Amino acid sequence: MEISSKTLNVIHKLRALAGFLPELLVPSICLTCDRFVDRQGGCCPQCWGQLRFVTKPFCPVMGSPFTIDMGENLLSAEAIANPPPFSKLRTVLLYDDLARKLVSSIKYSDRADLLRWLAQWMNIAGAEVIDEVDAIIPVPLHPSRLRQRRFNQAGELAQRLAKLNDKHFMPDVLVRKKPTRQQVGLSEKERARNVSGAFFAPDEMKIYLKSKRVLLIDDVYTTGATAKAATRALKRGGASQINVLVFAKVETYLE
Ligand SMILES: [Zn+2]
Repeated sequence: MEISSKTLNVIHKLRALAGFLPELLVPSICLTCDRFVDRQGGCCPQCWGQLRFVTKPFCPVMGSPFTIDMGENLLSAEAIANPPPFSKLRTVLLYDDLARKLVSSIKYSDRADLLRWLAQWMNIAGAEVIDEVDAIIPVPLHPSRLRQRRFNQAGELAQRLAKLNDKHFMPDVLVRKKPTRQQVGLSEKERARNVSGAFFAPDEMKIYLKSKRVLLIDDVYTTGATAKAATRALKRGGASQINVLVFAKVETYLE
């Protein structure tokens, strides 16, 4: 059924304002397109079929899917060629147009309803990496960007995941000190340079990080430059193990 953009706007606003309203009072809309669906937090069959969920078998370090199952401990070429500073990375989806649409919706508009469902999906895909940690930390935005955007989508997801799992939410232990350029459009080397030294754990926060196992949350993992720079800063701050959980990961092709 076609819905006018005005009606859709009202429905989205109602959802954002009143997550507690019974489903019957607010119609349910597909998370990625504008079709009606029969329950909240889902996608219509057309969109669902197109989302590229990552399921086993996958690389135990990078979380990248394998086309065939070759046993528990087989690492991907990516993990062997370029071992990351973090212990494990997990993702809900492989990044594509549909995943980008979901991520953009939480980044640039008021979609508290969508955040809730994305966090639920991350909670399922990340069960193993969540279980292993003491605290959950978002990749921080620089304060000037935070003012501009009003909220940090990674922070919103991290807070929800911490609450769902009764883990410490520690958004203040990692700080972004450089107002880095947007990573979009940069090469892998430029991305690494852009975020190099961008993060640090303030001295007064190191006591909270000491020997802690932490889970770092971001929305998208592209080349990994951001997650790796943040991981190194957390390690310098005293954390003993860092796992990473993202909503979508760009597929890696090694030449
Ligand atoms: Zn749809």
